[in-house]
Amino acid sequence: MKHKTKDRPARIRCPYCGRSAVLRKASYVYREKALDEYLYVCSGYPECNSYVGVHAGTMQPKGTLANGDLRHKRIETHRLFDAIWKNGILSRSDAYRWMQDIFALPSSQAHIGQFSDYRCDCLKAECMRVLENNHVEIAC
Ligand SMILES: [Zn+2]
Repeated sequence: MKHKTKDRPARIRCPYCGRSAVLRKASYVYREKALDEYLYVCSGYPECNSYVGVHAGTMQPKGTLANGDLRHKRIETHRLFDAIWKNGILSRSDAYRWMQDIFALPSSQAHIGQFSDYRCDCLKAECMRVLENNHVEIAC
C-alpha cells in the first residue's frame, strides 16, 4: 500500500519544550466538543499547553505548535488582517500579496498559522496602520 506524504503524520517537535508532537483527535484537547478534527499536541500536554490544527482531510499541520499566548495572538492578528479585505481596502489576494511583501515571504509561508510571536506583532502593527489610514474601526 502506497502512502503519500500528506497521508502520514508529520514529525514535528514542540518549540517550547523540545518534546515530540503527537497527532490526536481534537477532542483530546477540546473536551467539551467531540470534534472530528485532528491536532498535533505536544507529548508534554497539558503541562506544556502547545498544539496546532491540521489542514482538513490531511495530516499536515497548519503551522508550528503554539502555546496559549501565541494561539491567541494568531487569532487576533488574523482578525485584523481579514478586516483589511473584508472592508474592501484590498482584495483578499492583494492582501496576501501585501503580507508577503512585508516579510519577503513565498506564498507557501504567508500564513498567520505559521507566524511567530514577533511576526504576529509586526503584522498586527502594519494592519492597524492600514485600517487607521482607511478609517476602519476595529473593536479590540
Ligand atoms: Zn511542549
